[in-house]
Amino acid sequence: MQDISRAKSAELYEKSKTYFPGGVNSPVRAFKSVYGTPLFIQKGDGPYIWDADGNQFIDFCASWGPLILGHNNAKIREKVTEVMQNGMSFGAPTALENELAELIIKNNRFVEKIRFTSSGTEAVMSAIRLARGYTGRNKIIKFEGCYHGHSDSLLVKAGSGLVTFGETSSAGVPKAFADETIVIGLNDKQAVTEAFAQFKDDVAAVIIEGIPANNGLLLQDKEYVEFLSETCTANGALLIFDEVITGFRVGFEGAAAYYGITPDIVTYGKIIGGGLPVGMYGASNQIMAHISPDGGVYQAGTLSGNPVAMAAGIAALSILSQPNFYEELNAKAQAFVNDLKAYIADKGYELKIFTVGSIFWFAFTNKDIKTAEDIDPASMEKFKIMHRELLNRGIYFGPSGYEVGFVSAAHTSVELDKAKQAIFEALDIVFA
Ligand code: PLP
Repeated sequence: MQDISRAKSAELYEKSKTYFPGGVNSPVRAFKSVYGTPLFIQKGDGPYIWDADGNQFIDFCASWGPLILGHNNAKIREKVTEVMQNGMSFGAPTALENELAELIIKNNRFVEKIRFTSSGTEAVMSAIRLARGYTGRNKIIKFEGCYHGHSDSLLVKAGSGLVTFGETSSAGVPKAFADETIVIGLNDKQAVTEAFAQFKDDVAAVIIEGIPANNGLLLQDKEYVEFLSETCTANGALLIFDEVITGFRVGFEGAAAYYGITPDIVTYGKIIGGGLPVGMYGASNQIMAHISPDGGVYQAGTLSGNPVAMAAGIAALSILSQPNFYEELNAKAQAFVNDLKAYIADKGYELKIFTVGSIFWFAFTNKDIKTAEDIDPASMEKFKIMHRELLNRGIYFGPSGYEVGFVSAAHTSVELDKAKQAIFEALDIVFA
């Protein structure tokens, strides 16, 4: 166990609360779902981060997913530094945008034309507008337990009943927006069929996370995802795969390739920017022809395609597109998870680890979990204890039991062995 002082983080947090709501610039960072107060991070290198008090942690949060190569990757840093010598933003096209686009389009079967944005939220919000503009329809179907960023149409949760208009999940979202979003449960074919029966000619799109990974890891059957794709096609609606987490994570071509289905529109973010703010949406030439200035769907961005962010993306994706990158990463992550599972089975703990590629999630239950409803909120108490014990042992997980963990290419057997040992100890305390 580390003898941890968190005095500097605590002091910084007191100050940040005077500047920012809750002291943070994104809510989950505020440690409201776990013990303690946020650690203020000073630096990261490879699999490690250090907080303001100099404590070192093996990091499995990875900045919420982007850092598949670990922190401060030398190739990304060098490319960014080189490009920055020429200035940081022009608001005009650069060759770097072409270079990143080529890397993506040449290695991805699911997009013929793309548009860069500065965040995942923007990418998804724009994809929804594109689907509406393309189909001339208004409604979208989304799934409870999928997060797609913080745009108005998507901050909507299920009402009561199988197929309902959504209810806003944030103050400040007009009910009229929620009325255009139908929210149904995952893994429920009947709900999809009913939604289309009720709103047939007005459904522009069904949007789903490639593999839902924002409310636990809700692995869906291939057959169900195929059903969604077929149902969209049969009803003239588009299938949007939100791959902001899964894109370039479960493989270079994301969850679409994992399931072997072809979505109509795909959104990416996180990894695509190598740690800098980049999002992207893409589709066939035919669909993308509807985007301004070629078509009537308006979408823009002062810093879209920013050269420094493009440089980071180019360096990152150049590494990810090398042969065997994902085979090696995923094998390493799966071996790590299998060792954890073996320990849990041996001890008979009430805990399941759901996993795909280099993503994993601890669910304090023995049940199978496929939908948001399957998760018992009371089980999060156990995660809180685990989180506290892991921090005390130098292991950093995202501060919420609904968040997944990520193994990166920078984790070696040294860090993974240490992390396993710490997780074993933490679980022994959780289940003591
Ligand atoms: N879509 C998914 C699947 C996400 O996981 C996220 C963020 O976590 C977003 C969209 C929003 O991306 P951003 O936070 O970059 O706006």
